[in-house]
Amino acid sequence: MEQSLYDPYLEAKVSGIKVRFICFKKINSLLVQSVVYLRKSMNKIEKRCRLTYELVHYSRGHLTLTGLCEGHTAQEEDKIRQETANRLIKGTKLCFLIESCISMDKIAEELQVTKDVIYDYFKYCKVKPFDDLKSIKRHSSVVVCKVSAGSY
Ligand SMILES: [Zn+2]
Repeated sequence: MEQSLYDPYLEAKVSGIKVRFICFKKINSLLVQSVVYLRKSMNKIEKRCRLTYELVHYSRGHLTLTGLCEGHTAQEEDKIRQETANRLIKGTKLCFLIESCISMDKIAEELQVTKDVIYDYFKYCKVKPFDDLKSIKRHSSVVVCKVSAGSY
């Protein structure tokens, strides 16, 4: 049976946040008050990840009086990305996919995330940064153990 994936559109709706699609040229997304603007030309998976990322900013109460999040240190940004990954990825499913998939692309597709989000999730679970699936598989017992411990 297919495990259901986190749905950021549902969360936005429940939180009273509107999602709008815009022809941005240089940025992927923007949070202004209770509206998330997403670049229209991103694919479905990129939009899913970016919306989640903006929802994390929102849920952390980052909006200032101007209605904008005014930016972060690199360290904070890292934490935000890791929390984004934790919302998007279920550890148990990732463990299963590590054992059964032949490429990171396939794993990303199954999880409906970009590969960057998978690496952010590994960071969140304190898995050392592997370059490719081959090395991940070679250390799969360690990876699976850490991912299982770090997942909700
Ligand atoms: Zn923020």
